Amino acid sequence: MALTELDKQLLWHPYTSMSHPTPHYVVEGANGCHIQLADGRQLIDGMSSWWSVIHGYNHPDINQAIHNQVDQFAHVMFGGLTHQPAIELAQKLVAMTPDSLTRVFFSDSGSVSVEVALKMAIQYWHTQGKTSKQHFATPRSGYHGDTFAAMSVCDPVNGMHSMFNQALTPQYFVAPPPTGLDAPVDQDYLDSIRALFEEQHEQLAGFIIEPVVQNAGGMRFYNPAYLDALRALCDEFDILLIFDEIATGFGRTGKLFATEHSQIEPDIMCLGKALTGGYITLAATITSDKVALGISSDGGVFMHGPTFMGNALACSAANASLSLVQSYDIEHKVGQIHTWLEQALTPCEALAQVSSVRCLGAIGVVELHESVSLHDIQPLFVEQGVWVRPFGKLIYLMPPYIISEAQIHTLGKAIYRVIEQHFNA
Ligand SMILES: *Cc1c(COP(=O)(O)O)cnc(C)c1O
Repeated sequence: MALTELDKQLLWHPYTSMSHPTPHYVVEGANGCHIQLADGRQLIDGMSSWWSVIHGYNHPDINQAIHNQVDQFAHVMFGGLTHQPAIELAQKLVAMTPDSLTRVFFSDSGSVSVEVALKMAIQYWHTQGKTSKQHFATPRSGYHGDTFAAMSVCDPVNGMHSMFNQALTPQYFVAPPPTGLDAPVDQDYLDSIRALFEEQHEQLAGFIIEPVVQNAGGMRFYNPAYLDALRALCDEFDILLIFDEIATGFGRTGKLFATEHSQIEPDIMCLGKALTGGYITLAATITSDKVALGISSDGGVFMHGPTFMGNALACSAANASLSLVQSYDIEHKVGQIHTWLEQALTPCEALAQVSSVRCLGAIGVVELHESVSLHDIQPLFVEQGVWVRPFGKLIYLMPPYIISEAQIHTLGKAIYRVIEQHFNA
């Protein structure tokens, strides 16, 4: 039986129906910015495989690092044992992230790193004698992962809170930050957060937010000045500030971390996605001495320890990826991609179906008035020779940083043509 048929019978795919699945394409290889399909077609990648493959596919340095490590050992338990790749990676992350973030917890995936961050916050306040601080506040339109605690702080509509309402911890939602990177700060918005904090601070262990860009919840860009204001509010009400940089980390927004668009530092930061250059799943939750030592202050231990914590293959892939990040001027590289994205996507503004085009760093978004049917639109992109996967009203590009100007223009033209075809069919 053909692989696609077997796939249909056997496999779940992300957010996909088992009875009416969207088409899935068999991949035979991937190299640089190209994905090679089994039917011989070659696609230019506009997605970095969900924003993770920042150096492109099949990178010789990361390949070599994994080869070297697998010949030493692939994995050992992290309880009672440690190793050079994990220590080196922690050193690199502490050096790259804001100064106050000094203590690293490795886990398997972004969602788990969010679970860990939330547990850290609750445990921290517990040791400080504030045992009622067990809940979180967060803006709507956020996305923090698919596990239960992470889901509880996702947008209630996108996260289907009504379906899981008996299973999810109720959290406190505020409106999403008003959009527009340069939009003036809305004091009423900040006052609404203050009002919530005034009323509920005894329940609130933390405020979790994706800095500068709300990603999977709508690709919404907002003024980083809100982060500075949030820092002050959190300090005033004894609430830890948690930045989920799983999507924005490692250069995507034009700074190494989106946090750097602001003047402040979070108490806890979550990293994932691009951490290993998109090779192997790995995530990190990084926190300050204050939180880490606070948790341990009464002889307590932090209550988490995944089986594959600090996996040596994943850490060596991450070390190679971060060495690459450090080897070039990432802000310049991403700035260049930003210019190309603006040039390539701006023509889409002329299409009646398009409500807005916006770019930040190596993120380019074409927002439509209406949602697209993935089932219908995905094959159109493949016919154009590109890999672009829209969601809802959003057609976006998050290409690998090695992409060329010509390839971005090809992606932009493909988006233009596909919008025309999809809506005029
Ligand atoms: C993807 C993502 C997650 C979840 O990471 P997984 O590795 O898929 O569990 C969490 N937060 C943000 C901002 C993300 O983009």
